[in-house]
Amino acid sequence: MRELIIIGSGPAGLTAAIYAARANLSPLVIASSVEFGGELMKTTEVDNFPGFPEGIMGPDLMMKMQQQAERFGAEIVYDDAVSLTLDGPIKRVSLGNGDVEEAPAVIYATGSAYRHLGIPNEDRLSGFGISWCATCDGAFFRTQHVAVVGGGDSALEEATFLTRFADKVTVIHRRDSFRASQYMQRRAFADPKIEVIWNAEVSAIRGDERVTGIELTDTVDGSRRELPVTGVFIAIGSDPRTHLVHGQLDLTASGTVRVEGRSSRTNLPGVFAAGDVTDPTYKQAITAAASGTVAALDAEAYLAGLADATADTTEAAIQSA
Ligand code: NAP
Repeated sequence: MRELIIIGSGPAGLTAAIYAARANLSPLVIASSVEFGGELMKTTEVDNFPGFPEGIMGPDLMMKMQQQAERFGAEIVYDDAVSLTLDGPIKRVSLGNGDVEEAPAVIYATGSAYRHLGIPNEDRLSGFGISWCATCDGAFFRTQHVAVVGGGDSALEEATFLTRFADKVTVIHRRDSFRASQYMQRRAFADPKIEVIWNAEVSAIRGDERVTGIELTDTVDGSRRELPVTGVFIAIGSDPRTHLVHGQLDLTASGTVRVEGRSSRTNLPGVFAAGDVTDPTYKQAITAAASGTVAALDAEAYLAGLADATADTTEAAIQSA
């Protein structure tokens, strides 16, 4: 049996793996079958991760973290955790391939999932003009007019990246000011290919085979208008991926996994949580990485406590024999 299983391979999961592997815990990382590396795999340039003064592409950063974790002995499995049994001293993690992994300690670092608009045609035309990932799909929209929905850092980052390919990028935001950082805003406002439509929501997506346009509803006066775009990039935030732990781990009012104070300890002994799945506020690569460190140290201390307890029991048995 293993000592530690880490579920998730974003900055939190892989940083936890680096620390745990260096502590000789030989962690097993369940990295997902299709989403290795988490959200940063879908990001373009990350220019605020310390140590990379020229910036680094999100996927490159995640590959470096993976290499670092493997250098110290972490084992990475490219499969999904499909169900978890977390109570009791031995935790069980069932994988998509039917295998069941067991360990006395688990770090849950599954990150967050992109939000959907929840309107008709959104899912049907996903991959046919609707996308959540400019890095993955931007090049398909060369010389076209695309829309980006949202007003946070992600939306403006996607919009700026898309200007490499598209002739025109229209950002659609439901309010009259952005939530994004001043830096992101300045960069977007300075780009002649980017225009902004304020106070508007996407109320319909047009298209049979592929997206041909969207309907916008003004959030102030309710008026409607059509925008003929061939691509729609949705960047309206994300929600913590807690589906595997419902009914087992306590959640906060924001829907994140509840941890004790600044630790990664959940309500169940031996179960630790880290990264965006615990974070309703900061959601940065560096804060996720830091919380992965905390989780690895907490798991290491927990496992050391178990080993001490076992040694004490053995000692007592020898003395009473
Ligand atoms: P976010 O900050 O939560 O922003 C989501 C945006 O989408 C908000 O502007 C929100 O509008 C809008 N929105 C939410 N639901 C909507 C809906 N149903 N319809 C229309 N619009 C909707 O999410 P994010 O941009 O993904 O960023 C998440 C975190 O990652 C943030 O902490 C951000 O700083 C960080 N991040 C950092 C970088 C970087 O530093 N390079 C890059 C990307 C993300 P309202 O403003 O009206 O609420």
